[in-house]
Amino acid sequence: MVASLSLPRILRIGRGAAEELGAVVAGLGLRRPLLVTDAFLAGTGAAERLLGILRGAGLHPALFDGTVPDPTTDSLVPGLAALREHGADSVIGFGGGSPMDTAKALALLGVQGGGMRDYKAPHVNLGPALPVIAVPTTAGSGSEATQVTVITDSATDEKMMCLGPAFLPIAAVVDMELTLSMPPRLTADTGVDALTHAVEAYVSRKSGPFTDGLALTAIATIGRHLRRAYADGSDAEAREAMMLAATQAGIAFSNSSVALVHGMSRPIGAHFHVAHGLSNAMLFPAVTAFSVHAAPERYADCARALGVATTADPAAAASAKLVDALHTLCHDLDVPTPRSYGIDHSAWTGLTPLMAEQALASGSPANNPAVPTATQIEELYARVYA
Ligand code: NAD
Repeated sequence: MVASLSLPRILRIGRGAAEELGAVVAGLGLRRPLLVTDAFLAGTGAAERLLGILRGAGLHPALFDGTVPDPTTDSLVPGLAALREHGADSVIGFGGGSPMDTAKALALLGVQGGGMRDYKAPHVNLGPALPVIAVPTTAGSGSEATQVTVITDSATDEKMMCLGPAFLPIAAVVDMELTLSMPPRLTADTGVDALTHAVEAYVSRKSGPFTDGLALTAIATIGRHLRRAYADGSDAEAREAMMLAATQAGIAFSNSSVALVHGMSRPIGAHFHVAHGLSNAMLFPAVTAFSVHAAPERYADCARALGVATTADPAAAASAKLVDALHTLCHDLDVPTPRSYGIDHSAWTGLTPLMAEQALASGSPANNPAVPTATQIEELYARVYA
């Protein structure tokens, strides 16, 4: 089988890499980037610092700081206006997954028009779109290296996955210093998101040898460093390791796929406004327990990479240890259940059939080793509510 792999053309990874942003953008022949970020990063002065770096390289940047967590179609409207007003020739996504995904959507809409609903999966977006440069500030989404953007339809609350090379950043500047300010909850949620990307990329029906290597490396790195970064956000070694692992996991899933955890997670985020990594974490142990029987060898490899099983453990025992380890990790990272998070039980059960339908429609569950029915997804939602 021939693997089709897509990565950013330029990756600058390492402490202090943000200083090179101007040279990267100028080197691509771009002159008028729109820096897309959120109010937090504008408020800390981080966005102004990047604008200074861009100006220092002789560029003419403009700022749009109106992105929102889990970007919506409505939130793109002022961004598009800013893009047009500036006559931007490129878009820089600066922040967590939300600003990076907003930048990707604006880059496509700015050239092709229409609404994001026109571009959602299974449609494959080839472009044209403006070039996107991504500068992550969380160690989680991996969006800096993926051909994915996730935008919520404001009219229906559906979290739409949109795919294709049009959304792959041309360059990613990955600087762990930008993550030092993450508070523990954000560190945990984004770190579990990265771990979920790596495990799902590895067990996916679309996995291959190239993505396998990146996924297993990311799992091992996250296993050794996530608790450390959560306990002490100033642990530079742990931050650097998590940053690299998140990008590797992003490349892995972008060239393989995510699976059932992500398929079920997006509707929770859309309907109950739970942070993306947290809704993954709420589901991860139970969905893994549901899935292991269909690919025990693959889950066993994940367990060994995570450091919770050895080659002496038969596959079934090792994959059971993975499920236990995910329960323990969620406990150590203080992950709540939907109930303890405060989600109303009748609202949860009332929306469960729609969430199951939306999960299946996203296509992600079809990549899971065990492909669930709608009823099985509803049972899993009931099980994790706790
Ligand atoms: P986010 O971008 O939604 O940010 C969450 C909060 O963290 C915001 O308030 C933000 O201001 C703050 N924040 C960001 N960086 C910070 C820092 N360094 N210090 C302190 N606070 C900081 O968070 P996220 O989890 O990175 O992204 C989630 C979004 O990414 C979701 O919408 C999810 O669907 C999407 N996503 C996309 C992909 C993809 O491949 N495109 C993959 C996974 C997730």
